[in-house]
Amino acid sequence: MDLQLLEERIQSEAMVVSPDVLRVDMFLNHQIDTTLLDAIGAEFARLFADEVGRVTKILTVEASGIAVACAAARYFSVPVVFAKKGSSNRTLDQQVYCAPIYSFTKETTSTVSVARRFLSADDRVLVIDDFLANGAAARGMLSLLEQADATLAGIGIVIEKAFQPGGLALRAQGLRIASLAVISSMEGGTVEFAHYD
Ligand code: 5GP
Repeated sequence: MDLQLLEERIQSEAMVVSPDVLRVDMFLNHQIDTTLLDAIGAEFARLFADEVGRVTKILTVEASGIAVACAAARYFSVPVVFAKKGSSNRTLDQQVYCAPIYSFTKETTSTVSVARRFLSADDRVLVIDDFLANGAAARGMLSLLEQADATLAGIGIVIEKAFQPGGLALRAQGLRIASLAVISSMEGGTVEFAHYD
């Protein structure tokens, strides 16, 4: 994808709603531009080209990760599993992996769960999400993978906010992370991008 395109959409349509929260409702999180979405999927496939044919599943968290995960999954020809928020009905379904995820945007912790039958030790998993901020969502998904003894192939992020600590901390753990747009600052409501080689 022409990454310039994603940055341009962020610059022209996204709204900085607080010092650390960006709203992308116009094209990604509420109204969705499916042409851009498909380009995002293609870009994840390009960045993780060595994993096409190896990855068995794509994992994300509902709700805003689902669209981008599906867009990527078409290129890997694998199913998407999305972790569900809210406590599962224990009487009906004890067969779940659970992890807490703190959302700094909502200031709440929710338990996410995935049915055990959808993740196993045979799976090699690409984690996809719309944003990376403090890394709580990613860590929650890594916990689900650990519980399943599944293998993490890498983490693909549409928008990383590099002024929040998640990306640095996860990379320091040696994890492979690819972000399509990296925001270095939103100070004063102005979005600035970082570009890495
Ligand atoms: P983290 O868990 O890394 O702190 O934050 C990532 C999760 O919070 C993502 O799943 C995303 O849905 C949400 N999130 C984090 N930052 C933003 C933001 O600036 N805008 C929106 N719309 N969602 C965000």
